[in-house]
Amino acid sequence: MLAFPAFQSLTPDSTLAALDAALADNRRQLDALLAQENPSWATLIEPMEALSDRISQSWGPLSHLFGVWSTPEWRKAYNAALPKITEYSVELSQNEALFKAYSHIAQSTAFQDFSPTRKKVVQDALRDFKLSGIALPSEQKERFKTLSLTLSELQAKFEENIMDCVQAYGHLVVDERELAGMSQSAKDAAREKAVVKDQQGWLLTLDYPSFDAVISRCSHRALRERLYTAYATRSSRAPHDNTALIEQILDARHAQAGLLGFANFAELSLATKMAESPAVVETFLLELAERAKPYATTELAALRALAAADGIHDLQAWDTAYYSEKLREKTLGVSDESLRPYFPYPQVLQGLFDLVHTLFGVRIEPLDGIETWHPEVSTHVLRNASGETVGAFYLDPYSRPETKRGGAWMDECSGRRQLGSALQLPIAYLVCNFTPPAPGQPALLTHDEVLTLFHEFGHGLHHLLTQVSEGALAGIRGVEWDAVELPSQFMENWCYEPTTLQRFAHHWQTGEPMPAEMIEQLRLDRQFQSGLSTLRQVEFSLFDLRLHRDFQPAIGSQVLETLAKVRQQVAVIHPPTFNRMPWSFSHIFAGGYAAGYYSYKWAEVLSSDAFAAFEESAFSPDTGHRFRDSVLAVGGSRPAMESFIEFRQRKPEVGALMRHSGLSAN
Ligand code: ZN
Repeated sequence: MLAFPAFQSLTPDSTLAALDAALADNRRQLDALLAQENPSWATLIEPMEALSDRISQSWGPLSHLFGVWSTPEWRKAYNAALPKITEYSVELSQNEALFKAYSHIAQSTAFQDFSPTRKKVVQDALRDFKLSGIALPSEQKERFKTLSLTLSELQAKFEENIMDCVQAYGHLVVDERELAGMSQSAKDAAREKAVVKDQQGWLLTLDYPSFDAVISRCSHRALRERLYTAYATRSSRAPHDNTALIEQILDARHAQAGLLGFANFAELSLATKMAESPAVVETFLLELAERAKPYATTELAALRALAAADGIHDLQAWDTAYYSEKLREKTLGVSDESLRPYFPYPQVLQGLFDLVHTLFGVRIEPLDGIETWHPEVSTHVLRNASGETVGAFYLDPYSRPETKRGGAWMDECSGRRQLGSALQLPIAYLVCNFTPPAPGQPALLTHDEVLTLFHEFGHGLHHLLTQVSEGALAGIRGVEWDAVELPSQFMENWCYEPTTLQRFAHHWQTGEPMPAEMIEQLRLDRQFQSGLSTLRQVEFSLFDLRLHRDFQPAIGSQVLETLAKVRQQVAVIHPPTFNRMPWSFSHIFAGGYAAGYYSYKWAEVLSSDAFAAFEESAFSPDTGHRFRDSVLAVGGSRPAMESFIEFRQRKPEVGALMRHSGLSAN
């Protein structure tokens, strides 16, 4: 059963009213559920699933439209609904009676006969309750709550300081010659910024596109140094100083971890992740560093040689991006513009669908007559080998700057779930922001856009090919955070694979397949300076991990000391001592990556290693079916490590990523 929202008849008012009604009714029903003596799977967890599904029927389309059809009316409705949803989910996570009811079920004799998936539903819920502090004695519970509130304020303030610092900075250039090398569009943007401030000239700022335009393109060395110095010291001085916040954030996290019985915050962070322990993550990162270092050293030497030929014999931090860009131009001849004609959107899409059919045995067909939010949106259905429907998805490919959020994402419309004798099937939203077609031709994608499409489709397949019927663990739900990018990054590999590319990358006018040299260029581009970039990611990850693992309240954070030690151990490029990178490291101080930054590399290892199984089996469909059954179909119903081991017959190894990145001898 596929249940599509009736997008044509939805209005902001009707959606809000439906949400209000669902929230009120859910609260009543929850009270009734919790009043029963002997809660069981059938009398508590199943009804809880239905309650949560009911909320997603009204909230889901609303939050989706906020992203893709963000008119003032829908935005207003979204903003009115958001606090209500937040309040409701906090209520649930802090509901002690609900926690007790789940505990009761876990301790019941019936629990022993639960399927492994049902056991995991209950265990995951209990784990999350505990991590929210609900099981603590009352005094500690209050302290935990206060720390949570403090943390969210501190983290928001950390981000705010960076934004204020960026806002406050501007360097006016009055002589255009100083901007030599910068792209015309970057110069125009700088010009526009000056005009807005009633200034004559070009105003350079510290937002990333503006900074990048200077640091990687501008030949004026002193200007690069000036911008670098400002950028690398963001929010490290009054009035937008993050020094105290870093200390307080680490302190509060450490205290929360302690209350929950963990030795440090890194352990708390890993409690819900695939990586077993901080020690495992550290070993993993050091192995990557050791393998990448010789390559990074060679890459740096090439950079130094290029700079020296330009008269620069002391390569500085503000020179590396500039000479890297020059080196890339010199060694790699493939531009976005020369690739685009080979990637007409309809053809790429068909290529993707054919690949999915070959690998996973599901056919993707158009599905007509489904209401959508925009005429550009297409709808599709997935059918298995025997013709049965397994799921459906919406695909919204093009950018609409007025009403659509930037970026690309996969979101759930509905999840797979057993409803009595019926089965509710998964539906996904796939959203991209490709450049719309010019008149008289199809949209021509860049290689990056093709990667994006395959990436999001990988998330989509994880959601759509699930065979789990317990809603809480179907699709990507319940999948560990550091494993969730496995299917998406796995799919990206196909965009470099020569046979696959030759099948769908054909010139949209001549029909010529992409020349082999061009495919080879794509491969080289992927490997460009990957030694240096691997070391950079390892440096950030190791710093993040150790900072959270080794924090001691009595000693304080030791930010610069920790960073210096990490760099000594793994880096080949050593930034100047005035560099204050941690002061603007919002991933770990303001975002959700605290003691989790390693996840980027972790997931890359998983996806490369999984792809290597296909290379080793000469891309046999059998490997595809095993990947579908061992990884995609099981979703969060078991630990990601078990799924990986079942597929690969061993634990993940870093070798394949090294090879795909050009960091190995073969
Ligand atoms: Zn992703």
